[in-house]
Amino acid sequence: MTAGLKHLLGIEPLTPDQITAILDLADSYVDLNKRQIKRTDTLAGRTQINMFFENSTRTQASFELAGKRLGADVMNMAMQASSIKKGETLIDTALTLNAMHPDLLVVRHPNSGAVDLLAQKVNCAVLNAGDGRHEHPTQALLDALTIRRAKGRLHRLSVAICGDIAHSRVARSNLILLGKMENRIRLVGPSTLMPSGIADLGCEVYHDMEEGLKDVDVVMMLRLQKERMDGGFIPSEREYYHRYGLDAAKLARAKKDAIVMHPGPMNRGVEIDGDIADDIHRSVIQEQVEMGVAVRMAAMDLLMQGRAAKSKEVWV
Ligand code: ASP
Repeated sequence: MTAGLKHLLGIEPLTPDQITAILDLADSYVDLNKRQIKRTDTLAGRTQINMFFENSTRTQASFELAGKRLGADVMNMAMQASSIKKGETLIDTALTLNAMHPDLLVVRHPNSGAVDLLAQKVNCAVLNAGDGRHEHPTQALLDALTIRRAKGRLHRLSVAICGDIAHSRVARSNLILLGKMENRIRLVGPSTLMPSGIADLGCEVYHDMEEGLKDVDVVMMLRLQKERMDGGFIPSEREYYHRYGLDAAKLARAKKDAIVMHPGPMNRGVEIDGDIADDIHRSVIQEQVEMGVAVRMAAMDLLMQGRAAKSKEVWV
């Protein structure tokens, strides 16, 4: 099963079957990652280049580890110090790298759409590691795998996505994925952090956190994306925590076995209480990190399988 993928640029173009294929393969990589020898030669001889134009700790480390565990040669480009700083365009950088015949480019960029544009210019598979406010597909897939393993299914669940929806590519990718898998989605946050017209996407919008969390199966918290805000979106962090920070009282409104998620990095005491984040009976935040490596291994494996199957075709 190759899932028929050429690139992984977003959740939007994926079918439910393709999503399931990635998650099923990722399950087997979760097992591999628990063994003493965490290595296969699935991508032996393949070259993976990580190009992060925006700071990242966990995502870059996760992609690097995923590639190495699959046996690929992994190179991290220091984009901050790259020729882009000397005035080279994104496309020229991509074309230069393309001439070195990589098999996989993993790209994070602050501008929405930049990764799609780059994918049109190169011959290899491109994975979007987050572009602006647009998409962060591997985050939504790792969240989906975490939910499926914790809840035993990925459909007919009630999921509350809470906080800074407007600036979040994580929210967007999750909204699309969870919608495709037929879950009921609630968006919870202040109107200033809610994109206009969002209710048209078939989710329910709540401005009151206690109402929004009532009887949900999954509470997904988001970071306040201060770097994407210009101007005042919230009165103060203290006031925000009071109304929208996840604490024990607000969590008590959700189902008794509801799980708590956060993509990281977390602002403790701003969008989430530290004790809730660390509560191993409710929080699956560490599992999300673990699932991240497995999902990225699965996505890269399937992309390479798909390309090998179609190697006689001309890729544009
Ligand atoms: N790490 C996630 C992202 O890159 C979430 C965040 O930064 O808040 O979008």
